[in-house]
Amino acid sequence: MILYNSASRKREEFIPNDPSLVKMYTCGPTVYHYAHIGNLRSYLMEDVLEKYLRYLGYNVKRVMNITDVGHLTSDADEGEDKMLKGARREHKSVLEIARFYTDAFFEDCRKLNIKRPDVVSPATENIDEYIKIIQKLMDTGYAYFAGGNVYFDTSKLEKYYIFNDFNEEDLAVGVREGVEEDTNKRNKNDFVLWFTKSKFEDQALKWDSPWGVGYPGWHIECSGISMRYLGEDLDIHCGGIDNAFPHHTNEIAQSESYLGHKWCNYWMHVLHLNTTSGKMSKSSGEFLTVSLLEEKGYDPLAYRLFCLQSHYRKALVFSWENLDNAQGAYRKLIAKIAALQPAEGQTPDGNALEAMREKFRTALDNDLNTSLAVTALYDVLKAKTDAVTKLAAIGEFDSVLGLDLLKKAEEKRRSDQKAAQAAAQTEFAIIAEDGAEDAEISALLLARRDAKKAKNFVEADRIRDELGARGVELTDIPGGVKWKKV
Ligand code: AMP
Ligand code: ZN
Repeated sequence: MILYNSASRKREEFIPNDPSLVKMYTCGPTVYHYAHIGNLRSYLMEDVLEKYLRYLGYNVKRVMNITDVGHLTSDADEGEDKMLKGARREHKSVLEIARFYTDAFFEDCRKLNIKRPDVVSPATENIDEYIKIIQKLMDTGYAYFAGGNVYFDTSKLEKYYIFNDFNEEDLAVGVREGVEEDTNKRNKNDFVLWFTKSKFEDQALKWDSPWGVGYPGWHIECSGISMRYLGEDLDIHCGGIDNAFPHHTNEIAQSESYLGHKWCNYWMHVLHLNTTSGKMSKSSGEFLTVSLLEEKGYDPLAYRLFCLQSHYRKALVFSWENLDNAQGAYRKLIAKIAALQPAEGQTPDGNALEAMREKFRTALDNDLNTSLAVTALYDVLKAKTDAVTKLAAIGEFDSVLGLDLLKKAEEKRRSDQKAAQAAAQTEFAIIAEDGAEDAEISALLLARRDAKKAKNFVEADRIRDELGARGVELTDIPGGVKWKKV
């Protein structure tokens, strides 16, 4: 499989360190608010990558952190802890907020068919790990203590910037409007590993450390959790593109300085979901959630299809019109699959199946081209082969695409059947006023009922006239019709 590696800025053949286990790490959510559908685009595309690796036969171990401490309002360690902000907003404790939004996050993931990573670990449960790493960085001169905090010294590195060719001025994120510059830093991009000097008296969660009572910086969390559960070598690290700098850059700086060797081989970054007025973000206060899509009548999996229809390395613009189109396409897809009628006892045609797989794999082998993979799915429906083979291919592809296609098609078949039965069973009283049974007249009266139900009033009137010509007079009654010969 070819994967674009944002660290080398090249498309590279994916070769895991150990072919028997792919180690994958994902930056998890900061649980101070609901995830918006932009955040979820990142998790969704990472989910497709994980599922495709499994489809290819790899065993994958995926780890994700939950950021429940230390992520400040500016990614460059300025401002206040986002968790505190959330707690104050809702008059709850930080732990209550963390629990509530962690659950909400996984509920959204469930609705979008995003698999829960094998290991999910809250930042607050790995404090010893961070202290161990920071201690070694202090001992080896990569970190320093100033003004109550422990900082990573970026000047000790030969190469600090990994992901971008930006110039340093552009990256001077420490000096943003509304946040004071931290004068303890020796270099502009130095970052905090451990805070003891909280600017906020009410910082809720604190732990003892060799540098005083305090709390970890955001970046050290991901290095610590990744190394704790995946060891010293990582195959793939994922995240949204805004994490590339400073978060991932700092993760590499501290991890490789600590380990003394290369840490992660492939970096996968998902481009943003934008609104027509810019990036969708929690801090702007204007963001869409999965629940909101549901309230508006959308199936969350229609949003999944919407994401799959574009490449993860291209920014995606959200509009209701685009989502309507995706929802329409999703419904049609389900209807087409529901209409497939497999012959009983038949087995899939191996050659036809292999040809379909080939298209699907070619698409995803090419840097996870999900939109072509969706095209390969449509090609299955158009293929000149039997329904059993088509359904086998659709089932396989959907183990990666995650659209619940077979399940939804079965549900549709069942509900269509129920509706047909209900219509057939609707009691319709045909009362012959003189007590005479007449099968032909009854059939015409049922046909007239069906025509009326289908709003085909011309046909309904024609039948009434036909009966009239035979001397049958009708009287409509609630739930039926009375007739007599005149
Ligand atoms: P956060 O909860 O803010 O830590 O972000 C969780 C994940 O969502 C990170 O991987 C971010 O890079 C990613 N992310 C944030 N905003 C967007 C967006 N508009 N589109 C796609 N991914 C995003
Ligand atoms: Zn991270």
